[in-house]
Amino acid sequence: MSNPNPSSRPPKGMPKPPLVPSRNPLSWMAIGLILLLMFLTVVRTSRVEEISFSPEFLDYVEKGYVKSVRFQSEKITGEFNEAGLAARPDGSAKHFDVIYTPAMYNEKLIERLESAKVEIRGKAQDIWLPILWQLLPIAVLVALIYFFFLRNLRSGGGGMLMNFGRSRHKLRGKEQKITFDDVAGIEEAKEEVAETIEFLKNPKKFKKIGGRIPRGLLLIGPPGCGKTLLAKAIAGEADVPFFSIAGSDFVEMFVGVGASRVRDLFKQAKENSPCIIFLDEIDAIGKKRGPGFVSGGHDEREQTLNAILVEMDGFDTDDQVIVIAATNRADILDPALTRPGRFDRSVNVPLPDLKGRAQILKVHARKVKLGPDVDFERLARVTPMFSGAELEAVINEAAISASMANKDFVEMTDLEEARDKIRWGRAKKSRAVDESDKRLTAFHEAGHALVQSMLKDADPLHKVSIIPRGSMGGATFALPEKDRHVYTRRYCMALLQVWYGGRIAEELFCDDISSGAQMDIQQATSVAREMVMTWGMGEQMGLVNYSGDPARDYYLGPANEYSQKTAELIDQEVKKIVDQAYHDARMLIEANKDKLEAIAKSLLKYETLDAEDVKTLITGGTLDKPTVGDLLVQEQKKTQAN
Ligand code: ATP
Repeated sequence: MSNPNPSSRPPKGMPKPPLVPSRNPLSWMAIGLILLLMFLTVVRTSRVEEISFSPEFLDYVEKGYVKSVRFQSEKITGEFNEAGLAARPDGSAKHFDVIYTPAMYNEKLIERLESAKVEIRGKAQDIWLPILWQLLPIAVLVALIYFFFLRNLRSGGGGMLMNFGRSRHKLRGKEQKITFDDVAGIEEAKEEVAETIEFLKNPKKFKKIGGRIPRGLLLIGPPGCGKTLLAKAIAGEADVPFFSIAGSDFVEMFVGVGASRVRDLFKQAKENSPCIIFLDEIDAIGKKRGPGFVSGGHDEREQTLNAILVEMDGFDTDDQVIVIAATNRADILDPALTRPGRFDRSVNVPLPDLKGRAQILKVHARKVKLGPDVDFERLARVTPMFSGAELEAVINEAAISASMANKDFVEMTDLEEARDKIRWGRAKKSRAVDESDKRLTAFHEAGHALVQSMLKDADPLHKVSIIPRGSMGGATFALPEKDRHVYTRRYCMALLQVWYGGRIAEELFCDDISSGAQMDIQQATSVAREMVMTWGMGEQMGLVNYSGDPARDYYLGPANEYSQKTAELIDQEVKKIVDQAYHDARMLIEANKDKLEAIAKSLLKYETLDAEDVKTLITGGTLDKPTVGDLLVQEQKKTQAN
């Protein structure tokens, strides 16, 4: 077997090491004793005894038993001196710990230690460290509250707590100038604000003669009719800065913030004079302060409103600041706001009329490429009650859909489709409609279309369609020749007959009747009620208003100021009117059943018919245009060819 560890063998020729003499037992005992003593010493010196601050520690210090102390975060570590060790029982530890809190630290303790000649280490520095450690969580908590709570409260305000009460207005400079050219269809409103522009441009002219120029302008009108736009245009025309803020921005959860924001806004505006302050949604803060029992709890709103009034009262003759406020609900504004010297000039910004709608469409169409067939006058006719904002959306929708169809310009069909989409919702061409439902819808719509076309008191027909849109299965559109500000009895009766035409057609041509008449019945009922209760068109009700005062009802709730007997009479009158309309419409349809059938069948074939198509069918003609099936085949061929 070979040697596993060749290197352990002594090399040849080296002298052998001398043998170690063996120790006697006594020397082993001595070594053991020494080791024991050393161990005891080490144990003694490394052992630590815990003693109380008072009276033990203070007592030992007093007696001069302590050699040194070190202040640490939560304890004092120390060492006894020889006298201390001697005085204490045998085997006591040399070191000690005193548990203490920084509150026990005081100058007196240090004096006592010093007079007892105790060596002190890490005094003040180690004393304050624990205090800081204890304060750290509180500091972190405060920082967290500040960053997450207060900054969020300011939401978008930009940071510092100091800014909390500062105004959150937006300042529009002169670079994004909007002028009267951008505002269309509200000519009277533009004329009314002309003097304000003149005052901002040329105040000396007014000072010369004297007189007080109205500083507060109240723009009143439905949403989206251009109140904000008009205010911006005033600033643009006068070439002055425009400070805008919404009423709701003033209202915070802390009382007094709104008022301080108002003061800040007015201060900044005065520094930038001449300028315009625009307060949108003034009704958010300027609501009437109701009678005692319904008010209360609105301190913040009232304080803000008062601050606005005070600021407006405090204008100097040299301050060229005009305050423009906008609201949809002038009827609920506090009279203090509309008092002379405040918002004493009110300007109506109504829904645009026929001419106005055409102008607004043209203004927004400036940015869009138009096809040769676009007729804004016609589009204006089919957009009654559309606001400026909705008309802008029509142009925009049409431009988007023309782009999606890879067209070079917007055509009339795009605009009409966009109109339908904005008012009634997107066409659901792909929605699978059951054949019997489709037939029911076709006859229902044909009923509306026939009555609409044949009654001379009704608006002319625009088009009829059975393509589902929004929540509707189909629709019949009228093309009013003018905007109506007054409704005659005959027009109202014609409206009711058109609405009932759908249900009557279902009754005469389908086995069943449907819920499709829900909206028709609802609209007919509300017009009939208005006729009786508000417009004095009932036979027995006389010229009495039974529908109350909306402004008063807003605060006190609707009040029925008539007897139960009158209520029954109103119901009877309403029923009489709707029955009459139903009867007349039924007579008309029964006399023209063949025409209605022709319209319904064509609707099933073509899905949409315009006024010309319906006229052709009523006069016994036939339609010569591609059916929906033909169009689908054409479309398929086109896709295959590509
Ligand atoms: P709200 O009461 O909801 O604040 P508003 O009356 O202030 O509405 P604006 O914000 O001025 O309405 O109008 C919205 C948009 O509609 C405008 O930016 C503008 O594009 C368009 N618009 C409204 N009215 C007109 C108008 N008369 N002429 C041109 N564009 C208009």
